Amino acid sequence: IPHNMSGQRIGLLGLGRSGIAAACSLAAAGAVTYAYDDKTHSDIPSGCTADNFIWQDWQDWSWETLDALVISPGIPHLHPKPHPAAAKATSMGVPIISEVELALRAKSNARLIAITGTNGKSTCTALLAHCLTEAGAKIAVGGNIGDAACSLEDPGTNGYIILELSSYQLETTPSLAPDFGVVLNITPDHLDRHGGMDGYVAAKQLMVTATRAGGHVILGSDDAYVRDFANTNVADTVTVKTVTSSDAPKGRDASPALKGAHNAQNAAAMASIMRLLGYAENMIDAGMASFAGLPHRLQPVGQTGHITFINDSKATNGVAAAKALTAFNNIYWIAGGLAKDDGIGAAGDALGAVKKAYLIGAAADLFAGQLDGKCATEIHHDLTSATYAAFADAQSVSHTAHILLSPAAASFDQFDSFEARGDAFTTVAKTLCATSSRSM
Ligand code: ADP
Repeated sequence: IPHNMSGQRIGLLGLGRSGIAAACSLAAAGAVTYAYDDKTHSDIPSGCTADNFIWQDWQDWSWETLDALVISPGIPHLHPKPHPAAAKATSMGVPIISEVELALRAKSNARLIAITGTNGKSTCTALLAHCLTEAGAKIAVGGNIGDAACSLEDPGTNGYIILELSSYQLETTPSLAPDFGVVLNITPDHLDRHGGMDGYVAAKQLMVTATRAGGHVILGSDDAYVRDFANTNVADTVTVKTVTSSDAPKGRDASPALKGAHNAQNAAAMASIMRLLGYAENMIDAGMASFAGLPHRLQPVGQTGHITFINDSKATNGVAAAKALTAFNNIYWIAGGLAKDDGIGAAGDALGAVKKAYLIGAAADLFAGQLDGKCATEIHHDLTSATYAAFADAQSVSHTAHILLSPAAASFDQFDSFEARGDAFTTVAKTLCATSSRSM
């Protein structure tokens, strides 16, 4: 989607996926980019030239002439401590914007659906994309998931752009004016980047205040923070709809990918958008029922006899893991990694179905302490030995058993990403299934 940034001079901080997409779209629009990254100094991205893409230390940029600083969502611009280039931008009065902001400055007649929340963003974004596609709509989908906003193709007048947005992106996207603004839920997470809970909630509330006149705000009202957003001062022409986890649409029962009460709420939120767009109930149900789910979110990855392996590596906080623990029975639970501020958090209160916890990574001792007296635990440190131990225990019973990786912690102590952690678990699960089916 081309935007009107011709002749502008832009500082670009962070050359990850979204940074490269920003550079390409800036080059296409006739802007000049000065690029800097603490970690890499790579080649000129394809689509850019030496005239419009210049690698340069941020200290050497001619700050007086910069029109904006495009910052990667992973780089702090406010808390806990702004990156020095972001601090410089603030002191020089250079606006700090996201790559999403660039994309939204482009003219598109497609309707914009923007989705945020502490948990469930990717699931909802993928679910809505699937339902709309099944219903024959033309869509573009990306943002915090999949393709960067700047690399999306305009789906045109009757199409929809669906963007997943993080709190960081919301803070740096002043042109955001969605036709549908969705906030699914808010629980404490990433608080260091927002200077505390108030800052985090305020960032999420930007979704509500940004929703354009005539548009719709969809709120997951299970938690008090989002429930309060219903009182936000919005234009009379903006409608506010709340959904709870008891508002389950029919189709989701048919989809194994939408297990658990939290997914009932996710599905209800996306169904309400489909309904407001005029789609018939049977089309909505069909879309929900055929949704295959996303990898690393409550994903079944192996089955042998009475034992099923579930990969929920994306559950990087206690609230997400708690949802998984209430979606199954007879759980052999693998948890741990790099703990969040509240440690095992809400997951420590959702242990009714847990037979034993197998604890890994840097958080293993902390989690064992937090689970003490609440459920049986074993410390394994590494994921493979934890999975083998869980499998041995699950084999010794005759009832249905779920070996669930739902870590309630980030992955970076032992893995590059939650995907790498989930892939490692899947490999072990598949090996165990193959071995045990041969010996049966
Ligand atoms: P996000 O993109 O916001 O991180 P995902 O859809 O990738 O969300 O899901 C992340 C984790 O949160 C998964 O473990 C998933 O099962 C869980 N989850 C999904 N929806 C919700 C919800 N509404 N409330 C709490 N946890 C959820």
